[in-house]
Amino acid sequence: MSGKPQTPAIDGWHTMASSPHLIGTRCRSCGTYSFPKQAHYCRNPDCEGTEFEELELSRTGHIWSYTNACYKPPEPYVAAEPFVPYAIAAVQLEKEEMVILGQVVEGVTVEQLKVGMPVELVLEPLHETDDDIKVTWKWQPVAL
Ligand SMILES: [Zn+2]
Repeated sequence: MSGKPQTPAIDGWHTMASSPHLIGTRCRSCGTYSFPKQAHYCRNPDCEGTEFEELELSRTGHIWSYTNACYKPPEPYVAAEPFVPYAIAAVQLEKEEMVILGQVVEGVTVEQLKVGMPVELVLEPLHETDDDIKVTWKWQPVAL
């Protein structure tokens, strides 16, 4: 890989550390977690909270559901060009227990995935521009 800097494909959705975290918010009124960050209203329909605390979410969880993506996903999910089918996992975060969708790392197929499988968050390059390499979060099965 070239010496270009790595930058997030979507600004502000995750940290760039070697052990990355997604960045979410927690409602100051009811404690409900959100990802992506919430700024105006609470995801909890019974809550009228309007103040949110930004925090790093758990970077580990368990697969809740998964599927094969054979079509380019809608915005804001960013896919590589040309589009190659990949596995998508809905992962229940360890602490927050909210479910976060993400691509599964390259080279892992749906046949290798199981509900309940432990995964962790990693960053993988999506595509390269003239100035940098865009990365996004993916789920990496811990045991594979
Ligand atoms: Zn709330």
